[in-house]
Amino acid sequence: MRIDVVTLFPEMFRGFLDGSLLGAAQAAGLLDIRLTNIRDFATGVHRQVDDRPYGGGPGMLLMPGPVVECVESVLADAAAGTAPHVAMLTPAGRPLTQQVAEELAGRDRLILLCGRYEGFDQRVADTLLPDQISIGDYVLSGGEVAAMVVIDAVARLIPGVLGDEQSAADDSFSGTERLIEGPQYTRPREFRGLKVPDVLLSGDHSRIAAWRREQALDATHRRTTLSAHFSGAHTPAG
Ligand code: SAM
Repeated sequence: MRIDVVTLFPEMFRGFLDGSLLGAAQAAGLLDIRLTNIRDFATGVHRQVDDRPYGGGPGMLLMPGPVVECVESVLADAAAGTAPHVAMLTPAGRPLTQQVAEELAGRDRLILLCGRYEGFDQRVADTLLPDQISIGDYVLSGGEVAAMVVIDAVARLIPGVLGDEQSAADDSFSGTERLIEGPQYTRPREFRGLKVPDVLLSGDHSRIAAWRREQALDATHRRTTLSAHFSGAHTPAG
C-alpha cells in the first residue's frame, strides 16, 4: 500500500514513520509512505500558502492553488490503473472508526490532505471532491496528527504488518460484532493481592473463550455509561 501525505509540515512525521511498526512495515516493502510539502507549490517570493478569509473573521485559510496543485502532482504520479483515494482531514468529515480504517486499508493508494490555520478554502474540496475524515469531535491545530492517527490505524490492518494476524482480528471494534476487548492478564499471577482469574489458568480453551466473550460483552455495555460517569465526576458540587 502506498500512502502520500500532503502537508505544510513533513518534518512532523519523521520520528513517527521511523518508529517500530511503521518503520518495519516500510523496510519489508508492505507500506510506502511519501511526504509532499504544499509550500513547494506556492508561487511568489514569499511562497505564500495562506491568506485572510473573505468576509472577515479571525485567522488565515489555506489558498486553493498550492493545495490543489500539490495533490494533482501526487495524483499524476499514480501507477496506471490504481486511482488513489484522496482523503482530507477535517473536523467536518465522517468520523474515523475501525470500519472506516478497514475500508481505507483495502485501498492500494491513499492521499491524506492535512490542513492548517483555520483550514482550507472551500474550493479545495469543491475541486478535488475528496473523502473527508474527522478523528473526533474536537479541534486540532493541524491535520498532521490526524493523518498519523489514520496511518497508524490503517497500517496495522495491512496483512503482514502485525506479527500475529489474529491480534488485529481480536482487537476492540473488530470482527462482525465489533465488541470492546475484555480484560487481559500477564505475569505475575498475583500483583498487590490482585489475582489473575482462575479460568485463564485452567487450560480449558472453550471455557476461556466463553469467559472472554462474556467479558467483552460486559466491557462493551459498560463503555456506554463511562462518559456520563466521568463527566458527572467533574461537575462542581452544588
Ligand atoms: N476552522 C476549522 C473548523 O472550525 O472546523 C478548524 C481548522 S483546524 C484549526 C486546522 C486543521 O486541523 C484542519 O484543516 C484539519 O486538517 C485539522 N483538524 C483539526 N481538527 C481535526 C479533526 N478533529 N479531525 C481531522 N482533522 C482535524
